Amino acid sequence: MRPEDTPTEASKRVGLVGGTFDPIHYGHLLVAEEARQQYQLGEVIFVPNGTPPHKKDYEVSPAEDRYAMALLATVGNPYFSVSREEIERPGPSYSIDTIRAFQQQLGSQVQLYFITGADAVLEILTWHQPGAIVAECQIIAAHRPGFDLQKMTAVLGPDLASKVEMLAMPAVDISSTQIRERVVQGQGIRYLTPPAVGKYISKSGQYNKS
Ligand code: ATP
Ligand code: MG
Repeated sequence: MRPEDTPTEASKRVGLVGGTFDPIHYGHLLVAEEARQQYQLGEVIFVPNGTPPHKKDYEVSPAEDRYAMALLATVGNPYFSVSREEIERPGPSYSIDTIRAFQQQLGSQVQLYFITGADAVLEILTWHQPGAIVAECQIIAAHRPGFDLQKMTAVLGPDLASKVEMLAMPAVDISSTQIRERVVQGQGIRYLTPPAVGKYISKSGQYNKS
């Protein structure tokens, strides 16, 4: 049986992927699936930000659009789901609050894995309560072109860096920024994000609204 077909029992390991997902793309999906297989996660939950805690240099799309695109992208994978946790929670979407909310909902026997890309993990010191995050869940970091995970010990210090697991996988040079720019420029986005997300973007006029 191939690893992607292996049925799981109610597992005690759950992955969380936080992000803006504006829009979700194959980089997010591959990172989540690789983490699921390599760490035997029983499920991976995508958690779109309500209000991103770090100010963005562009206007973030409405949460409902980002949530809908995440649902469309993940319906085909029985291990994936999308949570409204951060969308429903007022105020900035701090990861530590999300981790605590899931730990409470799922029970203390569940080990949470917080799945990030290299860019995000290198900024973890700027996150709210980074020490609590690494104490309360396992961080998995995926390589991302343009970001050097070898710098992690220098940037984070040995204590925090030792708590981060590096995910071995092919680096994927796709970003939501690149997709938004391509849509604005009238370029195609096929093979960057699932077809249903591409259709949602073209039918809703997402990223093309003037
Ligand atoms: P944007 O360009 O708008 O910042 P993004 O592509 O970085 O979008 P986010 O929603 O910001 O997507 O990212 C959510 C999480 O997924 C972050 O932890 C980020 O590091 C990770 N991630 C996104 N794209 C990739 C990728 N291609 N490879 C590895 N990790 C990724
Ligand atoms: Mg990003």
